[in-house]
Amino acid sequence: MAAQLQATRTHGIDKNVWTELVQLVSQYQPVNLGQGFPDFAPPQFIQDAFCEALKGGPMMHQYTRGFGHPRLVESLARFFSRVVGHQIDPWEEVLVTVGAYQALFTACHALVNDGDEVVIIEPYFDCYQPMVQMAGGRAVFVPLRPKAGGGAVRSSGDWVLSAEELSSSFTPRTKAIIINTPNNPLGKVYKPEELQLVADLCVRHDVVCISDEVYEWLTYDGAQHLKIASLPGMWDRTITIGSAGKTFSATGWKVGWAIGPQRIMKHLRTIHQNVVFHCATAAQEAVARGFERELQLLGTPESYFQQLPAMLHPKRQKLASCLEGVGLQPVMPEGGFFMMADISSVELESSEQSAEDQPTDFRVVRWLIREKGLAAIPVSAFYGPEHSKEFDKYIRFCFIKEDSTLDSAADILKRWSHERSNRP
Ligand code: PMP
Ligand code: GLN
Repeated sequence: MAAQLQATRTHGIDKNVWTELVQLVSQYQPVNLGQGFPDFAPPQFIQDAFCEALKGGPMMHQYTRGFGHPRLVESLARFFSRVVGHQIDPWEEVLVTVGAYQALFTACHALVNDGDEVVIIEPYFDCYQPMVQMAGGRAVFVPLRPKAGGGAVRSSGDWVLSAEELSSSFTPRTKAIIINTPNNPLGKVYKPEELQLVADLCVRHDVVCISDEVYEWLTYDGAQHLKIASLPGMWDRTITIGSAGKTFSATGWKVGWAIGPQRIMKHLRTIHQNVVFHCATAAQEAVARGFERELQLLGTPESYFQQLPAMLHPKRQKLASCLEGVGLQPVMPEGGFFMMADISSVELESSEQSAEDQPTDFRVVRWLIREKGLAAIPVSAFYGPEHSKEFDKYIRFCFIKEDSTLDSAADILKRWSHERSNRP
């Protein structure tokens, strides 16, 4: 046997925030505002679509086209042609994947060579860096930071990029940039001028943009999601990634997609056909039916893409006022279904003081789960090693939950705040 068992590309990425916290949640059964998934059923029309798909004949239970079930790639192409302003070719420009995760993995492996650099904007969905590393690349991190001055920071829109920092992160080795709008965990929805800054750098340096838009339908208070692929010159250099799990509140279906120009997508297909080849047929058929329905209803109040953010809006308010009330200043998200809260006011009790070498947010979250029965996610998990210390004073709460779940969380937070204020 070779002396070294472990492939070097996996060094340093064995720890994973989801693996640890999902395990803690199953052990302690807290009120769960941690991992991002709804605790209610997906809408009836999409459940019906899956049931009908299952009853749709023998071929619904067999392999389908490897790069995407025909009905799904056609409906995705038809739908997104409308929103991206480019006539998308379903056979050459759409790839269906096992969730957005596999779309991201496939994009990184299709593009990145040993030693290539990939710019990642922080906070970032945590798998981006390991995926870049496994592909042989090096992640270069650029943080969004709360605007200087101005007192308490209240909105994710107050978290901004430094144009200088971003442009100096592009070098001759830069192959791609990964952006995420609306952002997980911050909830930032990039403004047109922010996307234009990224787009200009991509064009100037001939860099591909991987745009993770899994929360694209979820925006609040007039924030508007814009696809970077729709900016001039960007269709030809952007891979747009989406997720049926987020789109139809069915995270367990694990259907995702990557959409982009043929010159790039052909390389993603090379990876895909040697990794999974097919994705689940009936789930794809159901998602296709969902998009066909949404295309007909687009822009009307019956559209699920309008109903879901409308349903989430009061939940977001409820969580924000609860956090504010207990002195955990929330960052109001413009999009998505997560909210970051500032835990600087929290003084750790002696039981929390153990593991001093661990980041504060991880210590608080583990303690909250074990001792208080409430799960959240530590935000420093969404930062690279250079900046994680700077941002370990935030934890993330998920609000795509039943009101009763949010109420139970609020009760816990209030009791905890009461205990803290009564401490000698
Ligand atoms: N990107 C972001 C920003 C996410 O929050 C998630 C989690 N759903 C994913 C990608 C992965 O999505 P999926 O469950 O479809 O693999
Ligand atoms: N995207 C979800 C979240 O951010 C789930 C992540 C996961 O389970 N790996 O919570």
